[in-house]
Amino acid sequence: MRKLFFTILGSITFFFVSPLYSQSGAPKPLRTLIIDPGHGGQDPGARGMHSTEANVSLAISLKLGDTIAKAYPELKILYTRTTDILPGNLTDLDASLKYRANLANENNGDLFIAIHCNSAGRAAGGWYERRVVGKTPYTKTVKKGKKTYKQTAYKYEYDNVWVENKAKGTETYLWAIGKNDAKINSVAKNDFTGEIDSTSTLSLPDPSDPAEKVRMLIYTQNFFRKSLQLADYVQQEFTNSGRVDRGVKQRNDKGIWVLQATAMPSVLIEIGFISNKEEEEYMLSPEGQKEIVGNIFTALKKYKEKLETKAAMSAENSEKK
Ligand SMILES: [Zn+2]
Repeated sequence: MRKLFFTILGSITFFFVSPLYSQSGAPKPLRTLIIDPGHGGQDPGARGMHSTEANVSLAISLKLGDTIAKAYPELKILYTRTTDILPGNLTDLDASLKYRANLANENNGDLFIAIHCNSAGRAAGGWYERRVVGKTPYTKTVKKGKKTYKQTAYKYEYDNVWVENKAKGTETYLWAIGKNDAKINSVAKNDFTGEIDSTSTLSLPDPSDPAEKVRMLIYTQNFFRKSLQLADYVQQEFTNSGRVDRGVKQRNDKGIWVLQATAMPSVLIEIGFISNKEEEEYMLSPEGQKEIVGNIFTALKKYKEKLETKAAMSAENSEKK
């Protein structure tokens, strides 16, 4: 019985795995790439002074896809949206999130890259805040019982002070499933930026549900390391271009729901703070966009090459056996 089970398992594995090999016998680990520009349509995402996260993410996503297509014409690239709409032209945010994941899963994606912008603070650019700008001492008389004392008090001067919105840099998110890795920072509740404002009411996997538990295990075993590898490369490339590196972070909340819903390695890249005047201008400029796209492309190239080297090595090993 046990033998029969493994024979069936072997045939199934062969059936699914064999089309992945090209004629030369070398496996092609990356065949279908899903690019997911965050937000869109009625959901503008975070707002900058001149633009929205939805539009900046779309511009970068399209340019990224073009660059990848030129370098790897054999690679199938699918976008969850290519215009300023919610994916699938849907009007419901949750439905549009599901659409993103379904598109990736139904097309047997090998990698899912979501592009977003970060945001922090009260307003894009900065804001006025009432602050103490000076104090003048004076002497006042305090009465305590029958005695009186002289005491120094201060007269405060207030003014509306311009507070620059300074948060900046890039970060890449991974779906985290109870996985403690020293290399990755788990984001503390008070350090949330960007995707926290997702209005999604979609529920997250429930670890007490056996079916969900299996799905989470599959993600951990098959996709976590790969996602981490790509995320590391992305942050390295941003750092090489002089960007502020906020690191690879793992989160498991609704803001990155789509990462756990895709049955493939997946990352969510926050390309910069749209709330920071300087970074918004950089993300809107042709030079900035070229650099960001170049960074992500180089990271993807490294990721792809590493997968291919590993796959070629394992094919060689199995041939020797
Ligand atoms: Zn976003």
